[in-house]
Amino acid sequence: CGVFGVLGVKDAANFVALGLHALQHRGQEAGGIVTHDPEQGFNSARRFGYVRDTFTSQSVMETLPGPLGIGHVRYSTAGSKGNTQIRDVQPFFGEFSMGGAAIAHNGNITNANALRRELIERGSIFQSSSDSECIIHLMARSLQKGIPERMEDALRRVEGAFSVVAMTRTKLIGVRDPRGVRPLVLGKLGDGWVLSSETCALDIIGADFVREIEPGEMVVITEDKGVESIFPFRRQKSRFCIFEHVYFSRPDSILGGRSVYETREAIGRELAKEAPVEADLVCPVPDSGTPAAVGFAAESGIPFGLGIVRNQYMGRTFIEPSEQIRNMGVRLKLNVNRALIKDKRVILVDDSVVRGTTSRKIKEMILDAGAAEVHFRIASPPTAWPCFYGVDTPERDKLLAATMSEDEMRDHLKVDSLKFISLDGLYRAVGVGEGRNNASPQYCDACFSGEYPVEPADMIAQGFQM
Ligand code: 5GP
Ligand code: SF4
Ligand code: MG
Repeated sequence: CGVFGVLGVKDAANFVALGLHALQHRGQEAGGIVTHDPEQGFNSARRFGYVRDTFTSQSVMETLPGPLGIGHVRYSTAGSKGNTQIRDVQPFFGEFSMGGAAIAHNGNITNANALRRELIERGSIFQSSSDSECIIHLMARSLQKGIPERMEDALRRVEGAFSVVAMTRTKLIGVRDPRGVRPLVLGKLGDGWVLSSETCALDIIGADFVREIEPGEMVVITEDKGVESIFPFRRQKSRFCIFEHVYFSRPDSILGGRSVYETREAIGRELAKEAPVEADLVCPVPDSGTPAAVGFAAESGIPFGLGIVRNQYMGRTFIEPSEQIRNMGVRLKLNVNRALIKDKRVILVDDSVVRGTTSRKIKEMILDAGAAEVHFRIASPPTAWPCFYGVDTPERDKLLAATMSEDEMRDHLKVDSLKFISLDGLYRAVGVGEGRNNASPQYCDACFSGEYPVEPADMIAQGFQM
């Protein structure tokens, strides 16, 4: 998901809508905005679909007045997968004795089922199936006097990954979980302040990037005092999601001081060194494979070409929840550029192989177009484990790499060769010169390694075996 918030500007909702539009790649199912205006109080709007279709009409935007607002773009992971109801669309709102608060959450709470059960037993009335709603109920039960303090209390009970943007009548609040699994950045817009999942959403509104919110940090921002920072949690080693670098974030964002685009290009270079192959054309699987393909071509000296053309008006396939739609999706979205492919030995560069269905269809399309050979090069290690921290991966038995070796996957996909970047190669590409510290990894890489930095308590209770 994507989260965004702004304080101290005229008509905050317009900026929030633009920010969410720039974060649309993080969630395409639905979006929501909450604003506060000193005269008109809190207002909210939640809609299915793209921000550009839902938060552009005057009739919606004029219902969201005020200088302070937050927003969320959703794609479902835990909870109501593939079956989002409007009640699951964030931000969530709570009314407390000291006033209202709204929260938008990116990540996944790994003990949400246990918390929900406990809260319901104690009288909480849940409105949605979302894990994030726990935070509101935990805040309601807190005995603290202020809303930021109640949030601290609530988030100390929450396990897993969370980047939260929240607001009260006067405050904009941002928090990252102690391991900083999901991103969150601070920006400045004139006299106002901005919180965003990624820097690309600061660019769109002309805000300056100030810094990242640190793992375990909470910032409370007001118009008169500016940014106040505290560290409410026990200090832990940071474990940022390495897959943000590979796939999830936009290539024009900056993560951990590094350009995502340059990282992806470096992944392609690493891949070309680790798994060279003789061929005539390096072709990205658009769009997510493109920067890595640029790097692969540069390193190998093999010409780069757009052998597959993407229809820009379809969303990311994997964000569409149902498997049936995903299966149809490939041909609707990607088409082979026959003139370029015919009789060539083609290296296809993609970001990941998850179920293998996309890869298989693309390979068929390339062969139908007359390619002489098809070689897959993948910009991440084999995805052998599900993510429980906010990226939608299918259950373990649906992951190709969970049950097959690299060679078996090559045979299954019926390609001439298939190679994944090594975990160490990926770490080098994200700027860790010495590679992965196996005793204490610098990033979360659980979907590749099976080493979960936060025990997925709910999943283990349901029988998941690590
Ligand atoms: P596959 O061949 O595994 O079906 O799909 C791989 C391609 O689709 C990659 O280009 C990747 O961007 C995207 N993809 C499809 N499904 C998923 C998914 O569940 N999770 C992730 N992370 N990417 C997916
Ligand atoms: Fe990111 Fe993978 Fe960790 Fe999920 S499991 S947070 S996708 S690295
Ligand atoms: Mg892709």
